[in-house]
Amino acid sequence: MKVVIIGTGYVGLPTGVGLAELGHEVVCVDREASKISKLQAGITTLYEEGLAELLQKNIAAKRISFTTSLADSMPGAALVIIAVGTPPHPVTQEADLRYLYAAATELAPYLKEYTVVANKSTVPVGTGDMIVNLISKTNPQASFEVVSLPEFLREGYAVYDFFNPDRIVVGTDDERARNLIGELYAPLLERLHQEGKDTKLLLVNRRSSETIKYASNSFLATKIHFINEMANFCEKTGANIYEVAHGMGLDKRIGSSFLNPGPGFGGSCFPKDTLALDFMARQNNVEMTLVHSTIVGNQARIASMAERILKALNPLNQEPTIGVLGLAFKNGTDDCRVSPAMQILNHLLERQPQLKLRVFDPQAMENAKLILFPYGERIHYCASMNEVAEQSDVLAILTEWPEFKDFDLAQAALSMKAKVIVDCRNLLDSSQAKALGFTYQGIGLPQA
Ligand code: NAD
Repeated sequence: MKVVIIGTGYVGLPTGVGLAELGHEVVCVDREASKISKLQAGITTLYEEGLAELLQKNIAAKRISFTTSLADSMPGAALVIIAVGTPPHPVTQEADLRYLYAAATELAPYLKEYTVVANKSTVPVGTGDMIVNLISKTNPQASFEVVSLPEFLREGYAVYDFFNPDRIVVGTDDERARNLIGELYAPLLERLHQEGKDTKLLLVNRRSSETIKYASNSFLATKIHFINEMANFCEKTGANIYEVAHGMGLDKRIGSSFLNPGPGFGGSCFPKDTLALDFMARQNNVEMTLVHSTIVGNQARIASMAERILKALNPLNQEPTIGVLGLAFKNGTDDCRVSPAMQILNHLLERQPQLKLRVFDPQAMENAKLILFPYGERIHYCASMNEVAEQSDVLAILTEWPEFKDFDLAQAALSMKAKVIVDCRNLLDSSQAKALGFTYQGIGLPQA
């Protein structure tokens, strides 16, 4: 099947590469020419484990190509997948649909033969209807069906998740469109079936499908916020958050995932999707107090982590330096969008004008530089974990990269100015740190 994907970002690129690997003919379209030239040369524009190899393999097999021209890509396409960004509107915080509407308008003239337009962008309920109206208005002769095909991949596991989805949600009542999406995923479902997995297409109406995405992300964000609040509770009461989370997770009704405490949720999805659901609830006169307090509580969590780090500095130190391990919003990705780490850094630098930072992330340095450039020389970008520690007064761990577990505490004990660690991910061996003379603060752990 020939598939055109509009938007070649964190969702569009892994989806395109995955569909090509399943044997489809994929053309990825993006309006950023620099992105397209890199991809044409077989260079990935974002970090995801396994993506580079699959990209090169499928370019060589001529199953995937890249272009900035929608006109060139469309002849013969049975399916168009839209995967453009839907960021929060700067004023109202609702989902900003300008990129989606632009993509639909650009696409309309090319829908001459019956084509399924599947929307993978996360969009407010009812957006599918608006896309139908927009396309019909732009091209009254267009022959098409709009399907909601929400994406559930986790950044850092995008390739794995493409090939191992928990479910594939297909939002349309149209039989012909359902069959086409069934054909698209048939090779994957067959492969999963052979592995003994019973993954199914979940066929629902378009509005349910759009809502499933927001409900899922808001529920997961709430679960994270809940365990972070429990971590605060444990610190005050002498309980241990891991023992508590384990005990909770054994209950099948609760489940053990997303019960890992941290500095707050972030990334390009949970913050914006909770905000968008909160906005839609108000628009529809529905009280959603849980989602609202999750948004507010998470912001407070991030700020409180920053304050905790500042508090760990010696108040007499006029020119302090904090070493920071981790900038991406989670491990496995180079994505810094709405990263709790970046928000904490911003808070630290604004609150302490004399403060300098030494930072390191295994994958996100380039993206972080683009965000942090206004702070100029106040930030030293390090080439290694050890370099971060040198002459730092406090070491803060903000992203849960597994390699940070191997941080050389003995070396840091020699190179840091003061031996203080605030570990917002509980990655380091606290006993070893304390044995080496560090003041070590984790989260959700009994206070010494
Ligand atoms: P992104 O910003 O990484 O990628 C979007 C791409 O679309 C960009 O490369 C941009 O240049 C391109 N684009 C925008 N308008 C275009 C147009 N008219 N024509 C061609 N290209 C255009 O965004 P993303 O993270 O991939 O997210 C895309 C959507 O998927 C969002 O709605 C998001 O909420 C949703 N989503 C994201 C994730 C995730 O983990 N990132 C997971 C599930 C769902």
